Amino acid sequence: MPPNKSLAPSFTLKVLAPSLVAVSSIALLLLYIVNGIFEETNRLDTAASAKLVGLAMDSQRRSLETIIVDNAVWNDAAINAGASVNQKWTDENWGVTTGLGTYDSVFIVDQHGKTVYAARDGKRSDVSAEDYFGEDVVLLLAASRENNAGGGQASAMFRSGGNISNVSAALILPFSALPEAAGKVGNTLVFSRTIDDGVLTALAKSYALDGLRFTSGRSPGGDGVISLNSISGRSIANLTWKSRSPGTVVRDRYGFVVTMILVMFLFVISILLYMSWKGFKEAHEAQAEAVAASLRDDLTGLANRRQMLSALTRCLGAARADKSPLSVIYADLDGFKEVNDSYGHEIGDKLLKAAAAGFAYLGREAEAIARLGGDEFAMILTGPGSAEKARRIAQSMISFLEEPMVFDGRIASVSVSAGVVDLEADEADVEEIIRRADVAMYAAKSAGRARVHIYQASLDFKRDGNRAMALELREHIDKGRLTVVYQPIVDARTRRTKGVEALVRWPKDAATRYTPDIFIPVAEEFGLIEDLGRFVLNEACRQAAQWRDIFVAVNVSPIQFMNPNFAELVEITLKRTGLDAKRLEVEVTEGFIIDNAARANAIINRLHDMHVRVALDDFGTGFSSIGHLRRFKFDKLKLDRSMVSDILRQPSALRLVQGTIAMADALGLSVVAEGIEDESQVSVLRLAGCSLFQGYLFSKPIEAHELTAFLNETQTALAS
Ligand code: C2E
Ligand code: CA
Ligand code: CA
Repeated sequence: MPPNKSLAPSFTLKVLAPSLVAVSSIALLLLYIVNGIFEETNRLDTAASAKLVGLAMDSQRRSLETIIVDNAVWNDAAINAGASVNQKWTDENWGVTTGLGTYDSVFIVDQHGKTVYAARDGKRSDVSAEDYFGEDVVLLLAASRENNAGGGQASAMFRSGGNISNVSAALILPFSALPEAAGKVGNTLVFSRTIDDGVLTALAKSYALDGLRFTSGRSPGGDGVISLNSISGRSIANLTWKSRSPGTVVRDRYGFVVTMILVMFLFVISILLYMSWKGFKEAHEAQAEAVAASLRDDLTGLANRRQMLSALTRCLGAARADKSPLSVIYADLDGFKEVNDSYGHEIGDKLLKAAAAGFAYLGREAEAIARLGGDEFAMILTGPGSAEKARRIAQSMISFLEEPMVFDGRIASVSVSAGVVDLEADEADVEEIIRRADVAMYAAKSAGRARVHIYQASLDFKRDGNRAMALELREHIDKGRLTVVYQPIVDARTRRTKGVEALVRWPKDAATRYTPDIFIPVAEEFGLIEDLGRFVLNEACRQAAQWRDIFVAVNVSPIQFMNPNFAELVEITLKRTGLDAKRLEVEVTEGFIIDNAARANAIINRLHDMHVRVALDDFGTGFSSIGHLRRFKFDKLKLDRSMVSDILRQPSALRLVQGTIAMADALGLSVVAEGIEDESQVSVLRLAGCSLFQGYLFSKPIEAHELTAFLNETQTALAS
């Protein structure tokens, strides 16, 4: 599993997202504050310039107020325009000067609000003040009259004909008490001055305001604005100017610095995030490694049992879903325990590693390869052709282990027994599939090891019954309850006992009794044969050491015989029991030896080196072939009972026996005929050249103490 795949979302959730939220919050807050400062600076400046604009407008109005007071409170004015208007005087003094700079229009309004004189741009006009300025002028006039009680005037802004003007009004009064002006009051003088571009430019200049102008509606953003109201409180115009926006200026100037600081801040944060990502990843990888390790077999690096089970669960689900085939190989090394016990764990481990490496290569097409523990391995194959592949791989695993391996100068040879189970249409679950593979594997073991067995339902029935027997046998072995009986092997001519064959017996007092034909295969199937064989070998040697001269033949199961330590076991047993090696014979059967010719010969050689003889048992059954006699250096041949019983009935059987004996003779092998039950067999076989006999005719297998008596009896009887 690539750890980063699932890591990124988890990192995002746990570290990245909170950090980004925190960092961006801080950055945003900072920007907000800095921006706030700039904006506030701008706002303060705008407020300050608004005040300035206000002052500018005030100054404009005040200058008009000064002018109007100068003109209205004047003796001449009172005389010439106070009550009735002297047109000539008024034209000369006020009319002609309109439009020259101080004011643009002049009106004289009587106490009833009627315009009695009007002039604009140096000429008389007949537009009334009310028509010109609108009805608000009435308010101005009223205000000026009220103010005039205190000697003042009133002024306000008006919008007229698209222009904005300052308008001032003052009651015409004599400056000093004049007899000729007495009673001549009631008229109000009105001056107006348009605030045109020239005025605004001058104002802007003296108040250091940029782009001062009137606008109607909203002012464009970033500019200062004040609203100009009429005397009745209506907005008549907006006065805007270009804000100097010192905040913006500062921002423009220092924006880069602030940005750089932010960038550096983000950079530092990125580094911190990267470092924490690395830490996070490392921690996660360590964790992933731990998980992987818990799924891996430490010694071989293959999957372990746990992962095997989960892989099988997964593959089984997939195979069922797509109706595709699935096969499982279960393999168990034969003779591994012995390698481990005699050479030590270090070599045992090396052997397991080597086997695992080989299996991994052979099973490279497999979905999963696992070491289940000990010397058990498993493989899962899926997809088309998986059944054939499983058989082929299992077979190649056997071939792979055929050659002995050398570790630290020691030869370790093991074989492998494999069971194969194919996914059937039935609903077998994971446990059931494993169980079936196991049953098939045991079937392979009990059939003589180093072979492949395919699971069949029939294997189950046999196995269930055998399991109970195996359990009982285990107990008998552990408690030393098995016994060994001895069947004499006699000289064909003298009938003297030359030796005995040791035959194991199920305890006499056991509730159910089994013959060796039944329990020996079970011992082989359930892995008890080596303990059993060791017991018999030891017992037979111990007994034989007490008899003089005769040899003892011990049956050795192929499983036992192919154990790399078998020769050593024999050596130790001989030493312990004190039996002369020359008096020991081991009997082995043919089948397995043919399958493993090289190893069999190696073992035979080692036994010969120790002067232990080897007999080929059960000749004439199964695959017996005279040719094999040449290939293996046996010392003795045992003609099977079935062959012996046939010779009197079938001439072909006799010819075969005769040919075999002649061949054995030529190869220097002695021949024992088994199962001799009557004298006619004795004579025929003696003629054929058989040198030794064994059978009920001479003696059934008997117990050790009986044999002692038997020997005393027969040997003396024969001697006399
Ligand atoms: P085997 O090696 O062929 O042993 C000879 C069998 O023939 C013995 O049967 C013996 O009792 C029987 N027999 C001998 N003479 C006669 C006769 O005249 N007539 C008849 N009908 N039978 C005769 P047993 O003891 O039942 O052993 C059966 C097989 O069990 C043996 O066949 C051998 O393969 C195996 N076996 C017995 N003891 C051991 C043992 O300690 N280790 C191993 N690995 N196998 C053993
Ligand atoms: Ca035998
Ligand atoms: Ca036999």
